[in-house]
Amino acid sequence: MGKLEQAVDQVTREARRQALETLVQQQASAQPLDCPVCKQRLNVEAYGRERRVNSSFGWVSFRRDYGFCVPCGKHTYPTDIAFGLHPRATASPRVQELAALHALRGPTAQHAQDFRRMTGLSLDPSTVHREARRQGERAQRIRDAEATLAQKPQGIAKLAAETPVRNREHALVIEIDAWNIRERDDWGHSKRLRRRGQEPKRWHWVYTATIFRLDQRATTASGRPIIAERGFVATRLGLDTFRHQLYAEALRRGLTSAKQVLVVADGAIWIWNLVEDRFKDAQQRVDLYHVKGHLWSLANELFGRGTVEARAWVTPLLQALDRRNNGALDVIHGLEGMRSVIDKLTTEQREALEREIGYFNTHKDRMDYKQGKRIGQPVGSGAIESTCSQYQRRFKLTGQFWSLSGDEAFLALATLHRNGRWQQLFPHDSRAGP
Ligand SMILES: [Zn+2]
Repeated sequence: MGKLEQAVDQVTREARRQALETLVQQQASAQPLDCPVCKQRLNVEAYGRERRVNSSFGWVSFRRDYGFCVPCGKHTYPTDIAFGLHPRATASPRVQELAALHALRGPTAQHAQDFRRMTGLSLDPSTVHREARRQGERAQRIRDAEATLAQKPQGIAKLAAETPVRNREHALVIEIDAWNIRERDDWGHSKRLRRRGQEPKRWHWVYTATIFRLDQRATTASGRPIIAERGFVATRLGLDTFRHQLYAEALRRGLTSAKQVLVVADGAIWIWNLVEDRFKDAQQRVDLYHVKGHLWSLANELFGRGTVEARAWVTPLLQALDRRNNGALDVIHGLEGMRSVIDKLTTEQREALEREIGYFNTHKDRMDYKQGKRIGQPVGSGAIESTCSQYQRRFKLTGQFWSLSGDEAFLALATLHRNGRWQQLFPHDSRAGP
């Protein structure tokens, strides 16, 4: 039967193409010759100019009028704008969408084959790449416009109204982290740079966040934690840009109506500076597993890696974090107790001890794990860590085909897709989104 399905698909393809062409021409002929920007009547420059577009059923052509807007000082094809066509690209909106989805899955030969099987379209890799990049740049413009909006009072109200919050008592959780992306611009120039005494910069931070409401968290039948609705932010354009984007996304996810805001992250200082700046009233928590890792490496340093002594020393400290109110104070007390045997320690051990005393003093107010667990809050930043590794995996597949500026466009495209706002790019996709 599969053969029959394919045969019918082939035979009706031309009929579908013709139907599309007819409808497209009808709509083009009915399009008023008004400026899409200022709505003024255009001066006619030409009637019935032909355009060919690559649609999901093959090439279609149509004729449309061309005009000049005196107030805007611009030539334009109103039909092309209304149809969602790029001035110079041949892809129809549906082909634009398919190319973008294809690129999100990764440009491997396997994906290309699957894409052809599922859509019946064979787009060459450079078309997919170019079109997806264009869609990424559109996603970037949408994202940047929202970040700008979030800096004005009326914009804040508008974003806050985008995602209606039914539960007025909700708590909002923000998790933040960063990962590395490899630069490609300097490839082939490394030797020249080194000769000039410059080390080529190869890695760039991608600042990443995920945002969700506590009442959106659930567990599957097998006990795996899932989050029904989440917001995402990812950019490699620096902390300032990240801060604006994070704020805009938090507004969309119910920041202004949250009863409580909780930020969970590792100990990186830039994160906590950002939180103080943008989310002053938020409760702060350092990821429990990072903190325990600090205690374990100190125990290994002081008593030898994996020794019985190391375990015996660290166990009550780990338990204090889990089980006691202000457990961090017990830990600090325990660490300071080691100063009494300081003359038995090597220089490295002393440095490690003082470093960790400093670490726990810096973060002690971010370690209320017992209280957090009692009221069902996350004590770890697992949600953002899995987000980062998903982005990284995708980038390993896709990254090598994108330029440096393309990286940011691709991040914007992937993030818009994850945020469930695909219809902002492709209004024909009415089933997507919240
Ligand atoms: Zn105009």
